[in-house]
Parts: sequence; structure tokens; C-alpha cells
Amino acid sequence: MHEDNRGEADLDFAPPRKGISRRDFLKYCGLVAAALGLDATFIPRIAQAWGGTRPPIIWLQFAECTGCTESFLRSTNPFLDDIIFGAASLEYHETLMAPSGQNATQNLLNAAANYRGQFICICEGAIPTADNGVYGMIGGKTMLQIAKDICPKAKAVISFGACASFGGVAAANGNLTGARGVHKALGGYPTINIPGCPPNPITLVATLTTYLLNGSFPPLDGYGRPLFAYGTTNHENCERKLSCSAKCLYYYGCRGRTTYNNCSLVKFNNIVNTPGSPDGCWPVQVNAPCYGCSEPRFWDRSNFFLYNGHYINACEPVGP
Ligand code: SF4
Ligand code: SF4
Repeated sequence: MHEDNRGEADLDFAPPRKGISRRDFLKYCGLVAAALGLDATFIPRIAQAWGGTRPPIIWLQFAECTGCTESFLRSTNPFLDDIIFGAASLEYHETLMAPSGQNATQNLLNAAANYRGQFICICEGAIPTADNGVYGMIGGKTMLQIAKDICPKAKAVISFGACASFGGVAAANGNLTGARGVHKALGGYPTINIPGCPPNPITLVATLTTYLLNGSFPPLDGYGRPLFAYGTTNHENCERKLSCSAKCLYYYGCRGRTTYNNCSLVKFNNIVNTPGSPDGCWPVQVNAPCYGCSEPRFWDRSNFFLYNGHYINACEPVGP
């Protein structure tokens, strides 16, 4: 981690947005490097990647709670949203953009046409598919139709959050709206899935960084998740793993053993928990079990409170 100003004068980049210090920007680049499993020597390359081209981004919101956007916006120190939205060209985002109504719709159509084949489409939320998608409408159009119109024009589609990746809570048992993740709703359309409820913003940033550095996206697992973030379980890097069994939350329903994610490694909020610093936290650290939100069908399979009216040990299989 680059905690001081040594060597900064040699780096040929400027922070992408006014008001962000070079020091904060370097710290942010260090977080990204850590998330990607890269050492500190990659920090200058990451800084240059984000200080250069501004990739166009269209951010679509479907059936969701805006929690994924909130997770991204509420990241602090450094302010990921400030840096990313300064370094990328955010062409459309319903929650953040100023225009509304028909102007907003026109912005979306213009952006998709002007940056056809170049923009990265970030999707948030599940897509209702029952009855031709009538249970989810924006501006008189179904979410299903919007996804069909916009996603194929993108260079890549990133499904951000459990709902966009696998359907999430919107697709929980019952599912009268036929809600599905973007990949399934579009009949197997290839997507990069960054599941989580909420997803970790650093995983999205690190995925985009890989694209800026290499011109391609990172290797994925069988569920379309970037391997750098979802290649190990939360259990493997859990601070309680090696402590006495009384402290392990497995017996309180923790799904860390079967949940592939980097929460125990890169954590949330201030992200990195440097020795002696209160920065960075994940649920197990504050005595809450992981409930497996980055796994497909987590809502039905990982609910550690009740199943069929009975309290259960969540580490037992619960239904199909
Ligand atoms: S608390 Fe959960 S993630 Fe940590 S060691 Fe126990 S089972 Fe694994
Ligand atoms: S600790 Fe578990 S439940 Fe919490 S965000 Fe990570 S994967 Fe999801």
C-alpha cells in the first residue's frame, strides 16, 4: 500500500477529477491492485489507466432496490464514485442523472447509438419476464425490451449485484413476475456477473481496471464471476477460521464455507483493514454470519433464519 508521497513525482498522471488529491488517488489505485491480487508495483500502471481514456458507461436499473448503486456511492475514503465517475464517461444513470422523463429516455437512446460497440453496460436489478415483461416498465417500455434493445449494442455487459446476476430477491420462490438475472432473461446472453447483496464496489472497479489495462475483461468462473474476486470462499480468508471453534460462526448458520466472494479479503467501506487501523469491515468481523448473497438462489437456499417454518442450520442443503 502506497501510504506516503514517495515516488509520486515520477508518475505521469493527474487525478481524474478536481478536488481529489494525488495521494487519495494513489491510495485508491492501491486498493484496486490489492483486489486484483497485484503487488504495489502495478499502482502506477493503474493510475495511468484511469487517468487516460474515459470509457463510456451506460448504467441500467431494472427490478431492484438501488442498493447496488448505494453500495457504490457510499464507499468512502477514497470516494470511489467521485474517482470513477470522474475517470469514466457516465452517459446514463437514472438515479444520478439530471434529466428525467422523455429527455432521460432520449439520452439513453442517443448514448447507445453514439457509443455503439464501445460502451460498457452496467445492469442493476432483475428483469421480469412473465407475460412479456409487463411487471417491470420504464417510460412505457418493459425492462425486458430495454435490455434487449441496449445490451447487444454494448461492448460488454456487467451485471452488478445478486438480482442482475442471478435474479436475487426478485426471483425468490413464488416469483410471479418471472424475474431473472440479465443473462437468463436475454436467453443466455453473455454477461460478467458481480453478484452480492450488496456487491462490493471494489470488485466492479477492479473489473473495469482490468479492461483498461489489458483491453479485455478478467477470466470468469462457471457462473460468469471474475475469478480474482470469486475464486476463493469467504471462509478461506476468514479471521475466525483458525481460532477456536466456539468463535467460528459456522454453528450460527454462516455460509462462508460455500460462498465464493472476496468480502473477508478486501472488506467493505474503507475496504482495506490495515494493521492497527479501524478501516474496513465485513459481517463476520462484527459477529454476523455470511448469508451467501453471491451464490445463485441465495435467497431461497441460504436463509439461515427459517425454512419451511423451522429454524435451520444454514449449512444444510435447503431444497432444490
Ligand atoms: S465464521 Fe464463517 S467464514 Fe469464518 S471460519 Fe467460520 S464458517 Fe468460515
Ligand atoms: S459476507 Fe456473505 S452475505 Fe455478506 S456481502 Fe459477503 S457474501 Fe454477501
